[in-house]
Amino acid sequence: TIILAIESSCDETSAAIIKDGKILNNIIATQSVHENYGGVVPELASRAHQQNIVPVITNALRNANIHKSALSAVAFTQGPGLLGALLVGSSFAKAMALALGIPLITVNHMQAHILAHFIDDPKPRFPFLCLTVSGGHTQIVLVEDFLKMQVIGEAKDDAVGEAFDKTAKLLGLPYPGGPLIDKYAHDGNPNAFDFPETEMSGLDYSFSGIKTAILYFLREQEKNNDHFIEENLNDLCASIQATLIKMLLQKLKKAAKETGIKEIAIAGGVSANTGLRNALQIEAKKRNWNIYIPKFEYCTDNAAMIAMTAHFKFLAGEFSDQRTSPNPRMSL
Ligand code: ATP
Ligand code: MG
Ligand code: FE
Repeated sequence: TIILAIESSCDETSAAIIKDGKILNNIIATQSVHENYGGVVPELASRAHQQNIVPVITNALRNANIHKSALSAVAFTQGPGLLGALLVGSSFAKAMALALGIPLITVNHMQAHILAHFIDDPKPRFPFLCLTVSGGHTQIVLVEDFLKMQVIGEAKDDAVGEAFDKTAKLLGLPYPGGPLIDKYAHDGNPNAFDFPETEMSGLDYSFSGIKTAILYFLREQEKNNDHFIEENLNDLCASIQATLIKMLLQKLKKAAKETGIKEIAIAGGVSANTGLRNALQIEAKKRNWNIYIPKFEYCTDNAAMIAMTAHFKFLAGEFSDQRTSPNPRMSL
């Protein structure tokens, strides 16, 4: 079985080939046009996907030395994501499946972030908890099987990736600021500044308050010192990062306690954060957790995770037909 998978939900155009459950490649074209705008501009994302999609797919097939006639199915990200961006991948996938006379497989992007854990060893054992932390989502997911999972806690306002990116913007850093906060935090003191954590009931999160708190804090400091941010950039980044990680882990610990599950995974773009990875390792030692942290290349958006999910759906016989369409607000 050979499946071509396409990811185009946000600002990465990506294609991957999976053969009998093994990823052969993972081609990613990242869009740099958004850097100047402080966030992803949907219309620009769609146009960039249109420019990238043919070369990215051609590249994936050529790189794996596979002719399109050998494909068993075509998979694509159905949602969640930006409608205009999703339409580029879905239209291409549908046309390709129709032309080749092969089945179509729709993939939920958030499920794929989690199933990225099955690309390489070690693989989590069911049931496990996955903290999915990305640009659009913060979820604690109870994963019972490859295609059976439920959200038991989530962010009710901004996602944690958004909190990273928006506070980075307040610090004058370009988009996406998450990786830059991570970088400057390395040389900073996480206890230099104290930012308030927002407490939500149950296993839910709220990350919009911290952004506002930081905005007011910076305004106040800049009244006395124009160079406050430059002079304290490392400490600011370390303190912001430490606060966000503390909030993330608090609910994860609660979920582990309530469910009695000790198999703990993280997924999504923010799982690339070195502070989060370290903090999780410390908790794991304390609590006897088996933790699963994806390779960096499978944290942020990529088609390998879409291909992995498509593989499981292929085995389960879950196919779609030409009437399928993107679903920007698709849930798990
Ligand atoms: P979603 O998956 O919810 O649809 P998305 O696809 O835009 O959203 P991802 O590509 O999974 O999100 O992740 C992107 C996010 O990850 C951005 O917010 C980015 O700042 C954040 N991110 C990436 N690397 C790091 C890092 N090292 N530290 C903190 N945040 C990071
Ligand atoms: Mg992205
Ligand atoms: Fe994503």
